[in-house]
Amino acid sequence: MTEKKFIPLSVPNFCGNEKKYVNDAVVSEWVSTGGSLVPKFEQAVADYVGMPGAVACNSGTSGLHLAMMMAGVGRGDEVLVPTLTFIAAVNPVRYAGAQPIFIGCGDSLCICPTLVEEYLAQNAEMRDGKCINKHTGAHIKAMVVVHVFGNMASMPGLMRVAKQYNLTVIEDATEALGTRYTEGEYAGKMAGTIGDVGVYSFNGNKIITTGSGGMVVSNHPDWLAHAKHLSTQAKSDELNYMHDEVGYNYRLTNLQAALGLAQMEQLENFIAHKNEMYAFYFEKLNGKHGYGIMPFREGVRSNRWFYSLYVYDEHPMKRDDIIRALAEEKIQTRPIWGLIQDQADYPKNEHYGEDLARHYLARIVNLPCSTSLTREDAQRVVDTLLAL
Ligand SMILES: *Cc1c(COP(=O)(O)O)cnc(C)c1O
Repeated sequence: MTEKKFIPLSVPNFCGNEKKYVNDAVVSEWVSTGGSLVPKFEQAVADYVGMPGAVACNSGTSGLHLAMMMAGVGRGDEVLVPTLTFIAAVNPVRYAGAQPIFIGCGDSLCICPTLVEEYLAQNAEMRDGKCINKHTGAHIKAMVVVHVFGNMASMPGLMRVAKQYNLTVIEDATEALGTRYTEGEYAGKMAGTIGDVGVYSFNGNKIITTGSGGMVVSNHPDWLAHAKHLSTQAKSDELNYMHDEVGYNYRLTNLQAALGLAQMEQLENFIAHKNEMYAFYFEKLNGKHGYGIMPFREGVRSNRWFYSLYVYDEHPMKRDDIIRALAEEKIQTRPIWGLIQDQADYPKNEHYGEDLARHYLARIVNLPCSTSLTREDAQRVVDTLLAL
């Protein structure tokens, strides 16, 4: 019997100009944070998402930390965050000296506007234009919205409640580059460009990658300039090395930008592939053998970055047994993240409406979704699942 091919969950795809551009960067000897490719990559992403500018940084996490500082989130403040997300969406709240308040999700897996509204109506009040937590007296300054797995969060409802309570909206669009509304009040708007600040990630598992990297956009040009300043050690005098606040070394390198430029050329093809393979899984698995495929929001062109298999309770096997059985067939899958309110250091924080998040956490398995995934690979995943 021939060895079965390993089918990974999500791996990079370098089928374009990656080697050429990276080689050119090495030959030019511009490999660090100087060089022409970082501003070029910033402009390419800005143009793509329809914003005037963007600031590159060395990870999505550092981008989210910059977003906190751009928004003026500081010691003693509180920030509404989803409990169902990757922890990098929440830790930057703590880097800024603030505390998160955890809110549950809707069926989109994204933070639910109704739950946000309920939490605030019951626990907060407006004083002098500020949203104040009635228990702690703290200023609830911002809300982090994560577009989970490339699915657009419910932005009209979230923006309305943010406006009502004067909250800054930070969009964690790290998983959602290319996701945009096609209908409704935000038609044509990309994930990450609707709130006050948006952050993208180019980690190895994201839809495009620079190895590690991130990008910040903002509807406040002065905030964006501040992000650039903070990411470059807050240097205010190039010659004399004067620094007017505590800055960070958060810049992307020219080498990474070379990779990013080659990846940007392929982004639309990657999204087309993600959509095609999603449709394949949906057709073969949705409503079959105790499985569902989680839908993406209507009225949105989604990048469909991650595919979520929903295992109904009638299925004879438990989530972890399914993951184990697939692993034995060399098919890599994973459950969604443990809720952040259950992670070390967070159980003391306030939380609201997490029942649905726990429901989905117990029942979802993420399926292989690389942009190099072939139809034969996907068929093997389907056949293995249907035989369980
Ligand atoms: C990937 C990711 C991040 C962090 O991005 P890095 O580039 O890995 O630092 C943040 N939030 C979410 C939801 C992510 O999926």
